[in-house]
Amino acid sequence: MRVLRLGDDIDDYCIKCKRVTNHSILAIVDGEPVKVRCRSCYNEGPYRRCVVPPSKRELQKAALLKQMTEQAPAPPPPVVEAQPARRASQKPARKPAAKTARKKKA
Ligand SMILES: [Zn+2]
Repeated sequence: MRVLRLGDDIDDYCIKCKRVTNHSILAIVDGEPVKVRCRSCYNEGPYRRCVVPPSKRELQKAALLKQMTEQAPAPPPPVVEAQPARRASQKPARKPAAKTARKKKA
């Protein structure tokens, strides 16, 4: 494995150039470049290991998708309980009617 040194050239993705360009290593931690500078536009940034960061549109899409999945978990309508519930609602409707009809008053 090649030992990296400060100032060495290294390929990395530049967010300004929006492509992989030559970079100079500015900082190394544990033998790994952590900060680099683009040789084309001199933009400094963290070493991205040539990984292209997601675009703004992709981030918006992901945020929207996350929002939708967070709002989605609504409990499904209880289809099975619908019939017994209708019967139960008939009973209390009769009871008050029966009470008023009796009019138990001493
Ligand atoms: Zn650049």
